[in-house]
Amino acid sequence: MSPIHLVLIGPPGVGKGTQAALLEERLGTRTLSSGVIFRQEIEAETDLGRLANSYIKRGELVPNGITIEMMAKRLRSDEVRRRGFVLDGFPRTLRQADALQELLAEMELHLDRVVSLEVDLEVVVARLAGRLGCTKCGEIYHAANKPPGREGLCDKCDTPLLMREDDRPETVRERLRVFKENTQPVVEFYEARGLLRRIDANQTPEAVYASITEGIV
Ligand code: AMP
Repeated sequence: MSPIHLVLIGPPGVGKGTQAALLEERLGTRTLSSGVIFRQEIEAETDLGRLANSYIKRGELVPNGITIEMMAKRLRSDEVRRRGFVLDGFPRTLRQADALQELLAEMELHLDRVVSLEVDLEVVVARLAGRLGCTKCGEIYHAANKPPGREGLCDKCDTPLLMREDDRPETVRERLRVFKENTQPVVEFYEARGLLRRIDANQTPEAVYASITEGIV
């Protein structure tokens, strides 16, 4: 099977990370999650991490230039060539979408599909309230819907789980506002290019997965 190239778009808490993990597990596709990469940089206390965190903790977007450079570096890897990619959380602005088109043209790759995961925005505030994440491998848990086997520890790598600082309700509201303003136009950008599939994210993760991959795997 040839590698697939997908973009997942959707508001925070809609299940992009969950779907990216399923795609990676089942198809071997390399996940590139801009949010996870920023959090790893913050954890490692790099200059990029410190800079990014000053925006992330307020629920704002990290500036385009920094974000594009960080993602382009990872997209240009041999591993991505071999395994394909699922982009989770990137592109989030029209400028990032343009930059991605240019980069893919340079790499002679094209997107198989862009998925817009859609849900009532009130639902995601509740979902995010119980979300726990692994700071090392990025695995996502939920206090009620998907608790880890041992309380507070990642099933995959034993790292302690944390609630994200930016999952606090007031920051979530700002992230949703930013999503509507900056990322909704990206959905229309891909719709105009015939690449978009809208999926109701209120379905089970398995049903969402089936719809994401239908006809391309
Ligand atoms: P996420 O884990 O995708 O919800 O991302 C967490 C935070 O990282 C966002 O609220 C932004 O502050 C920042 N971030 C992630 N991806 C991007 C992006 N593509 N452009 C700008 N900021 C981003």
